[in-house]
Formats: sequence, structure tokens, C-alpha cells
Amino acid sequence: MKFGTKAIHAGVHPDPTTGAIMTPIYQTSTYVQASPGKHKGYEYSRTQNPTRNALQDNIAALENGKHGLCFASGLGATDAVLKLLKPGDEVITGNDLYGGTYRIFTKIFQNFGIKFHFIGMDEVNTIENHITPQTKLVWIETPTNPLLNIIDIAGVAAITKKHKLWLAVDNTFASPYLQNPLDLGADIVMHSVTKYLAGHSDVVMGALVVNDDELAQRLAFIQNASGAVTGPQDSFLVLRGIKTLHVRMQRHCENGRAIAQYLASHPKVSQVWWPGFESHPNHAIAKAQMRDFGGMVSFTLKGDSLQDAIQMMEKVKVFSLAESLGGVESLCTHPATMTHASIPKAEREKAGLKDTLVRLSVGIEDAEDLIEDLKQAIG
Ligand SMILES: *Cc1c(COP(=O)(O)O)cnc(C)c1O
Repeated sequence: MKFGTKAIHAGVHPDPTTGAIMTPIYQTSTYVQASPGKHKGYEYSRTQNPTRNALQDNIAALENGKHGLCFASGLGATDAVLKLLKPGDEVITGNDLYGGTYRIFTKIFQNFGIKFHFIGMDEVNTIENHITPQTKLVWIETPTNPLLNIIDIAGVAAITKKHKLWLAVDNTFASPYLQNPLDLGADIVMHSVTKYLAGHSDVVMGALVVNDDELAQRLAFIQNASGAVTGPQDSFLVLRGIKTLHVRMQRHCENGRAIAQYLASHPKVSQVWWPGFESHPNHAIAKAQMRDFGGMVSFTLKGDSLQDAIQMMEKVKVFSLAESLGGVESLCTHPATMTHASIPKAEREKAGLKDTLVRLSVGIEDAEDLIEDLKQAIG
């Protein structure tokens, strides 16, 4: 089945009692048993819920994976992956990550004796220099937030396979519409479902997708044992949102391209980060592993004045100044004080993230209105 058909139909079946075409919101914590242990596959909603199951199967299908697991947030999903590890284990990861991912690594799991190596992932061969007998996991994000760096997933997977390590890919920025890391050799795909999958800025949720049955069982055990599950209402909203994922993503990509090109031609803009430019250092990899370049665009203004950047963010009218991304409405974010404030300034600057950088999540409004808005805000 092709992507759009899967988005609408995968995992979803008419309700067996009424024929309702939409998956019901099974708003229940427990399920009646005929006799102890004699039930219809459902005992308690932390473990299993029919609305959540439909969504998990749907997201798994979109990632060409066998098993999907949904969590209370993207970070809840990341937390579950790290709980596969034990004290003394080591993780190799990028130095250009979502701020909350950096925070859970350094402020939570480092305290439990897990060691993290933050490295530049542009040259995948440097990964091998950091592998020790304790290394268990390589965690990458591509495109990265907010610098839109592209990491060669198949290149990293060749290394993790050789050394028998898990490769987890945060696929939030691309969404399964643009990129499927399992097909490129990853073991675990992670999503902040909050973003493009949900798509309407009304749900916080996370997901993992894997192919390996045993790994799926271990993650399902953690999902149930640690309990960061998502509720049936939110599962329903995301099932509904995903039905238009392919249509939304098409427009996000079109508008992203139009905005990136507009900004690049603007005399007051000094630099634009968007993987669709041929001048992007990893454009060739982006072209090979992604179907299009997405709706995320970052930029800086000439003169590099924080005051100018802030003024521009205060002036936008169609764009809203807010955290998050991937919704139908366009947002603009100041990573240094918002999404990436949990990364120390020195670390941010080492990764090339300036305090004057503005990040846009280009929505699916009419591109002409978005460009008009940027024109009046930049001046
Ligand atoms: C938002 C985000 C997360 C965290 O997801 P939540 O749903 O906010 O917990 C992780 N990775 C990336 C790339 C994100 O943008």
C-alpha cells in the first residue's frame, strides 16, 4: 500500500459492534473478565487500549515497521529507549540535538551512570573513534533541530550493524512522509508525535517504531512498567490528524521551499538553513534519504543583532511566536531562549547555534501571505 492510503487505513477497522468507520475513543481504564484471566486481550489501559492500539499499528505502518508504541510525549518515548540500558553503558549521539533530548541525557540518565558522547555526526566515520566495549546505543536526529543538519542514516547504520549497537533515529523533523529510518538500517524510530504526525498543535505525544520482535517486547514491557502512556482521547485526535499527513506534508514542503528561497533572496538576511539548497553541506544525502525537504527553515539577519532578531519575532502577524512545530499554522521560534535554552550557551555555540538564529515552522497557509508577513516583519 502507498503512503496516503496507509495514513488513512492502516491499523483502522470499522467498530465490530456498530460498524462505525471512525475508531471509537475507548475511554476506559479496565475491561471485564468472564473468569480470572479469561478476557478479550485487554486487562488494563496502561497495558493495552484499543484506540491506542489502532494508532500504534497505524504509525508502525507509516514507518514500514512491525511494532508501534505510543507514549505520553516524545520525551516519554526517548525515556523508554534509554531504559533499555544499564549503569556503565555508553551512548554516542550528535552535538546538535533537540534541547529536551540533551536535557534528559545529561540531567537524568547521566545520574544513573550512563555515559553520553556528544560528537559531530557530519563525518559518520568519526563515530568509530568513540565506540568502546560499553557502547550500546547510537542516537541521531536528522534533520537536526534547529540547524537542519543532515546525518547519513545508512552510513551510521553500517557502523552500528558492524559493532552490534542499536541505532535510534529521532525522525520528528522529517515525519514518516519524508524519511523512513528503518528502511535505511535503523533499529528504533522515535517521533515527537506532537509535531507533524498530530499536526494540529493540540496533542502532546511520542512514539517508537521497531521491527525486531524481541526489542518490541522489551519496549512494551518498559511502556507498561514505567507507565508513560498516552490516553484514548489523544490517540483518537492523532489518528484523525494522520489521515491528512501526506496532504499536509506536501504543502509544508512547498511552502518551506518558497519561504527558504524568499529569505535567501532578502537583502537583510545573512544565512538560511534549509536542506533543499544545493549549497547545503549535506544536500546530496538529504536528496538520497528524504523524499522532499520539509517545512522547517532557520535563518539569521545581517549584522547579527539580537535586538533586530527579537524585533522581527515581535512583528510577525501570520506566524505566531511559539515553541513547537509541525502544526498547520506557521510558527516562529527563538531557539536560544525557547526550545534550546536547556543547552548551555557554550555548548550551543560549539554546535553553531547562534543566539540570533530564528527558526520557522512553515505551516500550510497560503505562501503569499507568509511571505508578505515576513516582508513586513523583517522590514
Ligand atoms: C519536540 C521534540 C522532541 C520532544 O517531544 P515532546 O513531544 O515535546 O516530548 C524530541 N525531538 C524533537 C526533534 C522535537 O522537535
